Amino acid sequence: MNTTIGVIGLGLMGTAMARRLAQAGWAVTGFNRHPREIEDIPVAASLTDLADRTEVLWMMVSDYAACREVIDQLGEAGIRDHVVINSSTIAPSESAEIARRVEALGGDYLEAPVLGSIPQAQSGTLQLLLGGSEALIERLDSLLRALGTPTHFGAVRSGAAAKLAFNQLIGSLTAAFSMSLGLVQREGVDVDRFMATLRESALYAPTFDKKLGNMLDHSFDKANFPLKHLLKDIRLFTQSAAGQDIDTHLLIGLQHVLEEGIYAGHGNHDYSSLYENIVRHDTAH
Ligand code: NAP
Repeated sequence: MNTTIGVIGLGLMGTAMARRLAQAGWAVTGFNRHPREIEDIPVAASLTDLADRTEVLWMMVSDYAACREVIDQLGEAGIRDHVVINSSTIAPSESAEIARRVEALGGDYLEAPVLGSIPQAQSGTLQLLLGGSEALIERLDSLLRALGTPTHFGAVRSGAAAKLAFNQLIGSLTAAFSMSLGLVQREGVDVDRFMATLRESALYAPTFDKKLGNMLDHSFDKANFPLKHLLKDIRLFTQSAAGQDIDTHLLIGLQHVLEEGIYAGHGNHDYSSLYENIVRHDTAH
């Protein structure tokens, strides 16, 4: 409980995670590239300052380029004798490269992408998808459990692979539901009856009900997981799967829809706004 934690990346998720850890009694200091004040959490002025004040550096930044920049800026002085936990969603090959760099600089690396969003971070009910050494995970057990349920998938790469597999389902299930809901609406089928039947069938996924209200109300402004990050993850899945001889033609359409969503200004909106680019409103309806 005496371990000091530095959370790097005070965006949507990093802020919620830092707050949760602090509430659970951990000594947390934050850092953000563009200075950001967070109520209740001390914020370090630089990465060097953060590394001096903490033993565990928990990264929650946008993508691989951001992870690289953070590790390169920390350098040996900031990484040596530190544990780096990385919860950013990146590809397995990218995570392996970050692990290599961290270890070369004298640190320990734990891959820990998370399933769940802001509400789960706030309540400490995230699913942590771990790739790394058993000994390190045991050492960090109580810290990891402050944020949710840890599952050890194996060596570095395996947690990142599991995360992309889950996020592919987020995109594909939401797109599949949007198309079906769109046809039901356009044909004048009663949505309540459609949903009641769907809920009783083997085709139902709880995420359909979670996003139904947003789609019916065209209300996507309050984003937990923004559309721009889903596009990043679908691209990462496509690249990673292509290297493993998995046909990803089905995802070409999904990527196209998400790119259109970005052009339409939905990048920072909830990912379920992909519905707007599937069930179009620019025709006479
Ligand atoms: P976000 O709100 O967009 O925050 C991104 C963070 O990354 C910001 O703190 C940003 O700092 C930082 N950053 C970006 N580029 C950087 C760089 N070059 N150097 C240093 N810091 C940099 O994103 P988020 O929703 O918190 O997601 C963070 C990561 O978690 C992403 O990989 C995302 O896919 C993943 N994830 C998100 C959710 C979710 O529900 N939101 C759930 C699970 C996983 P600035 O403010 O200075 O730009």
